[in-house]
Amino acid sequence: MTPTATRSNRRNHPLGQPQQWLCLTDQNEHMNAAIGAILFDLDDTLLDGGAAWRSGMDALLVRCPEVSRAAALEAWDMAFEEHFVRYLAGELTFEESRIARIRSWSDLVSVVVPAGDELSWFDDFRVGYEAGWVAFGDVEGALSQLRRLRLGVVTNGDGDQQRAKLAALGLEQAFEVVICSGDVGFAKPDPRIFELAATRLGIPSDRCLFVGDRRDSDALGAVAAGMSAVWLNRRDQEAPDERVPAIVTLGQLPALVSETGDGATRPATKPVW
Ligand SMILES: [Mg+2]
Repeated sequence: MTPTATRSNRRNHPLGQPQQWLCLTDQNEHMNAAIGAILFDLDDTLLDGGAAWRSGMDALLVRCPEVSRAAALEAWDMAFEEHFVRYLAGELTFEESRIARIRSWSDLVSVVVPAGDELSWFDDFRVGYEAGWVAFGDVEGALSQLRRLRLGVVTNGDGDQQRAKLAALGLEQAFEVVICSGDVGFAKPDPRIFELAATRLGIPSDRCLFVGDRRDSDALGAVAAGMSAVWLNRRDQEAPDERVPAIVTLGQLPALVSETGDGATRPATKPVW
């Protein structure tokens, strides 16, 4: 089995990319059929979530300019991780999760938010957040090269908000299928949400390739559902193991999927970089 490209050999390559890349068939036991569809995560995969959060936080910090932006963003991240998971699990409604996030965040940054004012504060964040919705620079080029494949999105979040994000990015027509956890009642990494996307596309799961920035809930979740997967490791983090291949930009994705005849074959079985 070809080992995962290491950080060091990636850096040694003249293009800054790995000299040796993964054989997806080695890493995904279900990769026996030609890839017919590529499914994408949305936040931090297509949409630059960091930029959006910074925009939202700048709007929120107008209320409390004494709080540093870095501390505020770190606290927001912590509050999100805690309460968005509870929303996905069905423990909180979307609105309740917003209230809980403001409560946790304000405690972390030592800002007083009067009881009952949480949604007003959140709305300030939301306005800035929505104004900051932009696609990563590598999205358009990658999608244009993958146009011959069936394309879809599988995203955790409120359906109306996730579709609004795609519209803001100009991508509402780019995907044949958009599955939002808030609409269907289960969230990644639940295999059912991946299987639902494959079913709606009419493509067997083992002919779907999933791409997302969360290694566990995106890549490993998709593999557990019988798909192939690539971890979009934009921050070039150290992988804990070699169970799924990684790319650092969507610009690397089209080369992973070599096209032949009237369909696309599985990603190359030889190193392609
Ligand atoms: Mg994501």
